[in-house]
Amino acid sequence: MVKLAEWRGKALFRKYGMPVPSGQVVRSADEAERLVAAGSVPLPCVVKAQVLAGGRGKGGAVRFAGSAAEARDATAAILGLDFKGEKVREVLLEGKVAIGRELYVSIALDRSLRAPVLIASGQGGVEIETVADGAIDRQPIDPFPGITGYERRRAARVLQLTGTLAGELDALLRGAWSLFQAEDAELVEINPLAVVDGHLLALDSKVIIEDDAAFRHPEYAEIQDDRTPLEEIAREKDIAFVQLDGNIGVIANGAGLTMATLDVLLELGGRPGVFLDLGGTDDPRKVTEAFLLMAQARPTAVFLNIFGGVTRCDTVATGLVAAMQQVPESNRFPLVARIRGNNEREGIEILRAAGVTSIPDLRASAEAVVAAAGGTP
Ligand code: ADP
Ligand code: MG
Repeated sequence: MVKLAEWRGKALFRKYGMPVPSGQVVRSADEAERLVAAGSVPLPCVVKAQVLAGGRGKGGAVRFAGSAAEARDATAAILGLDFKGEKVREVLLEGKVAIGRELYVSIALDRSLRAPVLIASGQGGVEIETVADGAIDRQPIDPFPGITGYERRRAARVLQLTGTLAGELDALLRGAWSLFQAEDAELVEINPLAVVDGHLLALDSKVIIEDDAAFRHPEYAEIQDDRTPLEEIAREKDIAFVQLDGNIGVIANGAGLTMATLDVLLELGGRPGVFLDLGGTDDPRKVTEAFLLMAQARPTAVFLNIFGGVTRCDTVATGLVAAMQQVPESNRFPLVARIRGNNEREGIEILRAAGVTSIPDLRASAEAVVAAAGGTP
């Protein structure tokens, strides 16, 4: 699921002829001040955190500025935010408009109906989940003709738009439907769609691109989601690596064993801090690479829990021992191993030669790593 930041969604709106305020994305307070001072952003302006979570308005991640200096300060404040766990890296500056009414419009894929739905509500500007069902109109759309004239007129009636505004809504919905189809979206949401000086203007955008169509959209490949820098490196190397907030590193193979290992540690009062799923590999170099990545996450202790199948125990042991020699003395951590399965004896022998004992029992090995990590809190 590729969720686009507001400014990317608005760029698509523009491409499909949907009206949006003019704006600029910045990554520093200096840049914000410069653009506003140069007149590239109209004053007064709105300063908006470009995070994927909603509720920015209420959460202090949308601010207003009346001068270049204010835009600078607001940008600096927002760039420092950790909004619902997401670091703000980009800020959108756009002209502040005088809002008449705030409406809601979206096209979403409804998996239970197996069809797109056109959703409209006169109560925009708040999260749609908080709007009473009776105030929301849903029309299933036949994907072949797309949104028809009748459906567009019904949306206008629901939103109480007449005359020029009804005409503008008609054009906007045609644009939104083209976007939904051509860009392989699963959601195109405009909330709020504002009435400003008798015209419609999309003040926010939420666009989600269908994952299965990602191969048709290389333009989104560089989009970072909420991965940590180490997770980003891991992704490039095709290693399944996830950082959590505890202190024990877990290396296992296969999603099932990896999850079960995390469960056992939690059960015993341990706190997993990072886990790595070696999957099926027969290349010791890949194991070395993965282990070095784990070392960079600075775990207090590491639990290696391997069931040798496609991934043979000796492959893992060889890769691991090579990696241990590359970790600087100051970064070393206790390692508890449990390796079972294919080529178990060879693997255990390789580890023993490097000073690591394999504990065959799951509970005993998990207890040993929790103790090595400083015991239960
Ligand atoms: P979120 O959905 O994350 O809260 P929005 O982009 O919807 O963020 O902005 C929240 C509120 O801020 C909007 O409902 C609107 O009232 C106000 N707002 C957003 N953009 C503008 C703008 N360009 N001019 C004036 N008000 C705006
Ligand atoms: Mg919004």
